[in-house]
Amino acid sequence: MPPPVFRFAPSPNGLLHLGHARSALLNVDLARASGGRFLLRIEDIDATRCRPDYEQAIYEDLAWLGLVWEQPVRRQSEHLALYRDAIARLTQEGLLYPAFESRADIARLVAERERAGPWPRDPDGAPLYPGHSGQLSRAERERRRLSGAPYALRLDMAAAMARAGDLVWEELGSGPDGETGKVAARPAQWGDVILARKDTPTSYHLSVVIDDALQGVTHVVRGQDLFHATAVHRLLQALLGLPPPLYRHHPLVLDDLGHKLSKSTHATALRDLRAAGMTPAQLRQLVGLTAI
Ligand code: GLU
Repeated sequence: MPPPVFRFAPSPNGLLHLGHARSALLNVDLARASGGRFLLRIEDIDATRCRPDYEQAIYEDLAWLGLVWEQPVRRQSEHLALYRDAIARLTQEGLLYPAFESRADIARLVAERERAGPWPRDPDGAPLYPGHSGQLSRAERERRRLSGAPYALRLDMAAAMARAGDLVWEELGSGPDGETGKVAARPAQWGDVILARKDTPTSYHLSVVIDDALQGVTHVVRGQDLFHATAVHRLLQALLGLPPPLYRHHPLVLDDLGHKLSKSTHATALRDLRAAGMTPAQLRQLVGLTAI
C-alpha cells in the first residue's frame, strides 16, 4: 500500500491565521501518525489578489511552526495550461457555457427576481446565477465572444448532474450540521458555478480537484467552511474521471464573537502572535491540538 498523502493548500492573498495553523498542523499530525506524506501547495490562480510577499510569509510562518513539507512546492499559477485543457474538455462535452452578464447585471437580475419572492442563495450566501446565457444559441454565443465581450464559463449544473448521476463522498470529519460518513453530494445548491473566466482559465473548484488527483492526495483535511464546496468537487471529479480522496473537515477557529477568522484580522495572524512572543507549542494548544 502506498503511504497516504496529505496536503495544506493556502492561497497567498493574506497572512496565515490561527485557522490555517489548525489545518496545517492537523494535516502534519495525521500524516505523521499514519506514515504518510505531507505536501504544501500554493493556490495562487487569482493574480489580482495573490502576492509574492504573502507566499514568502506562508513559508516562514509554517517553518516557524515546525512544519516540514516536500519539495518542490506546487504553485498553481505555473500550471494554467493543464487547467485550460480540462476546461476545453468540459466545453467540448457541452457542459460549460459562456455567461456574459457583468456583476452589476447579475445584481440587477437578482433584485428583479427578489421582487417576486426570495431568490435561492448558495451555502456561502451568494445568490445563485439568475441569468439566461445558457439558453443563447450557439451563433449568438459566438457573435458575443468574437465581439470581445468579457464572459465567465459556467457549469451547466443540470446537464452535469444528469451526466454524473448520484454522488457521495466519504467524510471522516464532519460538516457544520454534523454530517459524517457517506455524505450525499448536493452540487445543485451552488447553481451554475463559474469554472473559468475569459482571462483566467480556471477557478478554485477546478484547480483544486485536478491538483489533488495529480498529486495523489488521498486525504483532504481542511476547515468546515469548505464542506459544502466538496459537492462541486465531487461532481467535477466524476466529470473528469478523477479518483475522489477521503475528506476530513474540521471545525473552524472562531474569534471571541464567534465569527470566522479573516485574513485581514491582524490579532490572529501567526506572524503577529509570534512577534508578541507566543511559542509554536502555545499556538498548538491555542488551536486545540495537543503536542505530539
Ligand atoms: N486555497 C483554499 C483556501 O485557502 C483551500 C483549498 C482547500 O483546502 O481545498 O481557502
